[in-house]
Amino acid sequence: MPCLFCAIVSGEIPCQKVYEDASTFAFLDIGPVSEGHTLIVPKTHADNLASGSAETAQQLMATVYRIAPAILKAVGADGYNLGMNHGEAAGQDVFHTHLHIMPRKVGVPRVFTKTHPSPELLAATAAAIREALG
Ligand code: 5GP
Ligand code: ZN
Repeated sequence: MPCLFCAIVSGEIPCQKVYEDASTFAFLDIGPVSEGHTLIVPKTHADNLASGSAETAQQLMATVYRIAPAILKAVGADGYNLGMNHGEAAGQDVFHTHLHIMPRKVGVPRVFTKTHPSPELLAATAAAIREALG
């Protein structure tokens, strides 16, 4: 069965990319729970964290460390929730390992409800994050 996130990493399916390095790829979630909601995936397919390598786990966290400050700066957020739905029981929908960075602003409720921003708004947010990453 073809993998959605492998297709995004390869460019076969378009996305709003914010960052990539040799081992990881980051792009905006199409149904963000907050502005700047970003997914970080390994470039090499694994269904979940447990079926990948320890090295992959480290690379994903290194990318969180690298890009989270720029995401917060770009959207004017004060903090973020870092999430992973690991396995069907936890609500994993896409079976290619991914972390969610969900920016949060002081005083704004921490909801996990998906929103449906316009493609133009998503593109502008991604551009602002890339700009903040320098
Ligand atoms: P999960 O529940 O597996 O942790 O989360 C999968 C995430 O992928 C969801 O938050 C969903 O909005 C996001 N998503 C699903 N399909 C696409 C897509 O085609 N493009 C992007 N950018 N995100 C997607
Ligand atoms: Zn995949």
